[in-house]
Amino acid sequence: MTNEFSATMLPVGKFQTDLTWMLFDPAKIMATRQEPHKPAQWVDVPVHTVLIEHPEGKILWDTGLPRDWETKWEPTGILDFWPVVADEHEWFDSRLNEVGVSLDEIDYMIFSHLHWDHAGNGSLFNGTNAQVVCSKAELDGVSSIKGYCEGPYIRHDWSELNFDTVEGDVEFLPGVKLLQTPGHSFGTMSLQLDLPDTGTLIFTSDAVFLGDNYGPPSITPGFNYDSEAWLSSVEKVRRVAQETDATVIFGHDAEQVRRLGDGPVRWT
Ligand SMILES: [Zn+2]
Repeated sequence: MTNEFSATMLPVGKFQTDLTWMLFDPAKIMATRQEPHKPAQWVDVPVHTVLIEHPEGKILWDTGLPRDWETKWEPTGILDFWPVVADEHEWFDSRLNEVGVSLDEIDYMIFSHLHWDHAGNGSLFNGTNAQVVCSKAELDGVSSIKGYCEGPYIRHDWSELNFDTVEGDVEFLPGVKLLQTPGHSFGTMSLQLDLPDTGTLIFTSDAVFLGDNYGPPSITPGFNYDSEAWLSSVEKVRRVAQETDATVIFGHDAEQVRRLGDGPVRWT
């Protein structure tokens, strides 16, 4: 591992939602004979992006939540299930300012997948010089969406972008690998970084929402595009993590984000 590069995780606001969406664990969410009126659990769901400063260019992994989420998501009908909470300093553009990077300095904009909380600021890259990347499976999957939105996809987020796609697991730049981990969506990818000092980090995005989904044993979330593929992807992440002695950073784990300090975290 001789490539000198760094990765900075930028927390960019959060959702709040019913835990059932994230973790379909009967022990935690289901009513029982002893507790027939067990209340639902309303939990924080933090969102992050990752800035990679590499000798061959600046990479951004995902774009987080848009400031205009309430108007933009109103037609989806599931707005009240996933309200956004963010302070001024937490929005995507504020966080980029905080680390001194402007949008036109981004050379590579890589989307783990195109859901609204990962591609929510994607349209800011319309007409920029960034090479825009997602998996071929994800782009093929969303090509059938013709209206304004479908599930957690808003066409406007990505419809004007010129994508380059990747298939299979690829070393995108030295030390920066994209792993195919579908199941949550058509073609969700995870990001493997072999950093010179830290060693390997794996950012799972929504391939694994929470440490509680990862286990072992793995516990499914309340929704998946393809549950069998989801399970294989979790085991793939586990296998790669074991082989590389990696630290795994989950897509939306509030406890993990708290442990990391709630602000930008930089690894070299
Ligand atoms: Zn997602």
